[in-house]
Amino acid sequence: MAYPMSSLEDIARAISSAKRLLICGHIMPDGDCLGSVLALGTALEQIDKQVIMAGPDPVPQIYGFLPNIENFRVGEPPENSYDTLIALDCSVPKRLGSGYCDLPAKDHLTVINIDHHVGSDSFGRYRYIDPRAAAVGEIIFDLLELMGIKITLETAICLYTAIATDTGSFQYESTSPATHRRVARLLEAGVPVARINVNLYEEKARASSFLLGAALNTLSFSACGKVAWMTVTRELLRSLDAGDELTEGLVNYARGVRGVEVGLLFHELADGRIKISLRSKEAVDVRRLAALFGGGGHPRASGCEVTGDLAKIQAEVVAAAVSAAGGEAH
Ligand code: 5GP
Ligand code: MN
Repeated sequence: MAYPMSSLEDIARAISSAKRLLICGHIMPDGDCLGSVLALGTALEQIDKQVIMAGPDPVPQIYGFLPNIENFRVGEPPENSYDTLIALDCSVPKRLGSGYCDLPAKDHLTVINIDHHVGSDSFGRYRYIDPRAAAVGEIIFDLLELMGIKITLETAICLYTAIATDTGSFQYESTSPATHRRVARLLEAGVPVARINVNLYEEKARASSFLLGAALNTLSFSACGKVAWMTVTRELLRSLDAGDELTEGLVNYARGVRGVEVGLLFHELADGRIKISLRSKEAVDVRRLAALFGGGGHPRASGCEVTGDLAKIQAEVVAAAVSAAGGEAH
């Protein structure tokens, strides 16, 4: 049985009565996930809570500048020394990753789920899900305000990064007047915007540029021109000595072509599964499209991981995308 939706006040109360908290985000962490975990964790330490921030996957190098990132533990979940689990930016427990995804079912833990995915209501004694929030970072901003915790420069940098990355630098339709009002407050706290954007977008590994070149060489289009896709194989990553995290953002190059409504990236993972990133421009609900293949996400950005033959998967997903975009396959 699912518990009813909580208010932010309920969440604040649950956090106040917690002693030791484990704060987690999702597998293959992105800017919203890491920025939100670090902002909340750092802020709760300020009010003398014991906090562990952790996740299964390594931190992409571009997020290495985030304040207190050295306190983010990578690997297996820590030993059983916390009474409360806070899951951020995870629509389903599976997104917490191996070892962590079983924690929400543990009876001895108070589980708090804070998220902004549509339909993310399946787990947590306390659940605060706001699909209007452009990033979980926006919800954390409001929560800290409600709890009367001062937003320091360190926390502000984390929240700015969370919000800037999940809105595509304030370009996506999720960006609201309230987004800019919150970000204005973060800038007032002293966030060095230009510096952060250099860190995020202009200090990439060289392999990242070579990977972009190679991925663009695989760019293909459906006959109708509404669907475009790129492919990154293991072999390509190996030949460039590039880590999986360097694929972040590549899918935007498939979407960013005139006439394309859906952009796809097929990325072969180390275990042989195919990770598919789906992006749409204005019309297609790619969350639904991803759900056809066991994934999820947002209407304009979603993903899934599929087992099977790359060419076959590609044909199936492209056909579904063409159909969703109202185009013709051939
Ligand atoms: P990305 O393509 O950047 O990995 O993911 C885009 C968005 O899709 C993420 O913010 C997340 O909401 C969602 N997403 C990605 N992969 C999965 C998946 O395997 N399952 C679900 N439920 N959502 C995913
Ligand atoms: Mn997010």
